[in-house]
Amino acid sequence: MATDLNQRIAQMLHHRDAGLSKGDPVSLPLVSSTTFHLPDVQGAAFIYGRNGTPTWTAVEAQLALLENAETVAFPSGMAAISAALMACLKAGDRVLLPKDGYYVTRIFARDFLAGLGVQVTELPTTDYATADLTDYAVVYVETPSNPGLDVVDIADVARRAKAAGAKTIVDNTTMTPLLQQPLDLGADLVVAADTKAPSGHSDALFGHVAGRDATLMTRVRDWRRLSGSVPGAMEAWLVHRGLETLEVRLSRMCDSAAVIAARLAEHPAVLAVRYPGLPSDPSYSLARQQMVAPGFLIGMTLKDATQAEGFLERCAFMVRATSFGSTHSSGERRARWGDAVPEGFLRLSIGIEPVEALWSEIASALG
Ligand SMILES: *Cc1c(COP(=O)(O)O)cnc(C)c1O
Repeated sequence: MATDLNQRIAQMLHHRDAGLSKGDPVSLPLVSSTTFHLPDVQGAAFIYGRNGTPTWTAVEAQLALLENAETVAFPSGMAAISAALMACLKAGDRVLLPKDGYYVTRIFARDFLAGLGVQVTELPTTDYATADLTDYAVVYVETPSNPGLDVVDIADVARRAKAAGAKTIVDNTTMTPLLQQPLDLGADLVVAADTKAPSGHSDALFGHVAGRDATLMTRVRDWRRLSGSVPGAMEAWLVHRGLETLEVRLSRMCDSAAVIAARLAEHPAVLAVRYPGLPSDPSYSLARQQMVAPGFLIGMTLKDATQAEGFLERCAFMVRATSFGSTHSSGERRARWGDAVPEGFLRLSIGIEPVEALWSEIASALG
């Protein structure tokens, strides 16, 4: 599988080559036109900017190679998530969401889906292994969960969901298609925020839905056109560029995160570390089974809120910002948003800084 994925990563870097004519630009042109020459209504590749544009098509072609599935681009991770849920749910349906997953997904479900007659149930990520999935229309999985980094056995949940007649949607944001392939494990749809590592430079909001069921993907595509939830050309162009370096960035980020997590676990000022690559982590064996690498996010618990905020303030190579997956390391105390984590819990996103330079800052900020 890894070889096959490597092949597709290489193909992604050359996906435009075959379509080039002599004199064409080698790098992707940013097409901002919203209208396309249409002397008659039949057979045009592009018609109107809400239906599709050459710049989206290019980034969707890259993502389709990585996902090994049809992919529809969206203007943000939440636009992709809401599209997938709207494509799968109707009044009277039940949806299962992780209680400790990305909070905006839960608020969307509570404030909008519930009002349309969808019954919303939330369970802790760790309960998915034993939950009764009967009578759900959608089982929504986030693994590793953000921010707790609990891991769900995707193949097992997708199999049980399918047996119960439910669709499985996996939020793959923390992993990207390079580190985890939920569709290969039986998921019906993958949703992701490309705002994070795929765009990778904290300068574009973007998302996508991928799937292998053509009927379901047509519904997702129709949702985009009919709701008008469409990405901008500039953002598509930035993500296209970001995807070209995703593999090398992730490789550095994951290698550094493994080094840093192991050292944090030994540090006397650190009360607890969550990193799926640590043999002592509850997610370790599942992570090895279904993830290509343990990722670049680390959960670190310090004594209290003051210690945690003080660490971020002192650490020169840790940007104090929400979000993750960028070239620079960043950290955030998640309890400030009301996540169900200890007051001293920090989510650290490890960037591409040379690891020893980063570690020496982290070590001195820990004191
Ligand atoms: C950031 C994030 C989202 C939402 O992405 P946006 O691009 O901000 O809309 C969804 N799921 C997870 C797990 C995320 O981390």
